[in-house]
Amino acid sequence: MGGCHSMGRSAIVKHSQRKKEFIDLNGPKLRNNITKSPRSLTGKPYLQPGCVSERIVQVDLKTLVSLPNGFDKAEWMATNTIAFFKHINVFSGAVSELCTGTTCPTTSAAGNKTYCWQDDHGKRVKCSGPLYTDYAMSYIQELLTDENVFPTKNGSAFPIGFVFMIQKIFLYLFHIMAHLYWAHYRDIARLELHPHLNTLYAHFMAFNKEFGILDPGETAIMDDLTTAMSKHSLY
Ligand SMILES: [Zn+2]
Repeated sequence: MGGCHSMGRSAIVKHSQRKKEFIDLNGPKLRNNITKSPRSLTGKPYLQPGCVSERIVQVDLKTLVSLPNGFDKAEWMATNTIAFFKHINVFSGAVSELCTGTTCPTTSAAGNKTYCWQDDHGKRVKCSGPLYTDYAMSYIQELLTDENVFPTKNGSAFPIGFVFMIQKIFLYLFHIMAHLYWAHYRDIARLELHPHLNTLYAHFMAFNKEFGILDPGETAIMDDLTTAMSKHSLY
């Protein structure tokens, strides 16, 4: 494989530990003492120059997301998808007390967008922010721990349709981040977590761009932030 030694999947992540890591996915909730959410649904505070430029580290995201020589592409995508899921799960937990059926009766996002959940019968149903997040994260966790979709045993191949599954997961994760920015950015800024969210979003979007995962139309509602970040050298 290329000029480098092919790296076995076990060299990238200790697969035997992967499932173990999922056991407590809902555990790492960041606690806070905020009891009310004065969020605005009209402005986009995250676009203010002072906010856009906030990040926890200056890094070349293009290099960070690129497939390392000798790595298996599917494994690289799987490993990064798991990491994005876990980080976004922590962020959802950080605002879980503020994202309620009362504050977020729908899963709102920029441009008056409302995300609907598709039930088992294929019917699109409106649901609250916390319910959508719970449905999405539970669905993703089920996929990530499904040996038939994300195999953990050495020698097991990723299934046909694996990329489609990655696309689905990325779409839900994007929806959750879009809701966080739109409905909870002020909460996150008060917790001083906005540099972390910006870094996570930029990393996620850089990875998405590198592998052409999501249809640009699906992420268009956040193009203003994505473009603003690129101008501030976030990627
Ligand atoms: Zn919410």
